[in-house]
Amino acid sequence: MKYVIPPKRGEPELPLFSFDLLDLLARVRAEISGLPLLQLEVWVQAQPTLACVEHNNTRAAIRLHSVLNHADTPEPVIAYILCHELLHLVIPPEELEGRSLMHPPSFWEAELRLVPDRSLFWGWLILELGQCLKTDVKRECTFVKSNWKRLMNTRRYTMDQVAQMQDAWGQSEAIGGPLL
Ligand SMILES: [Zn+2]
Repeated sequence: MKYVIPPKRGEPELPLFSFDLLDLLARVRAEISGLPLLQLEVWVQAQPTLACVEHNNTRAAIRLHSVLNHADTPEPVIAYILCHELLHLVIPPEELEGRSLMHPPSFWEAELRLVPDRSLFWGWLILELGQCLKTDVKRECTFVKSNWKRLMNTRRYTMDQVAQMQDAWGQSEAIGGPLL
């Protein structure tokens, strides 16, 4: 999501991921056409939402919530979130039935073209972090509840485990659709 008023945030943190976050950002950026020529930054810190992007004419900052900052968080999940936030720089909000939508249908279509497996990544987010996520449909964003710290000291599912679970449950398309 994009903010009009900057929210209250914690201090920036060192990424604890098993991959290089800036390298991943560069790879995701290269996949998206039509991005404005901006200096790109990515920050990890406690904040109200799971992820967001802010930008001006020269730079854009993607902010990931601290709850994602864990060595077991799968790289494709973060790649998907980065892709989602970068798409906000390409596809502006649209008016639909008198309402401004941050995620118009064209946004979801473009996202699905870039990330055909997105339901798998949302499956991981819901299974692993669902206890601390709250989707606000009206405001089109996913908030992180104050209980998130209790999810930081346990191992996390791998993408293979989540894919197996989705296969077993036969609901790969049923999972997904919350908002970033
Ligand atoms: Zn969004």
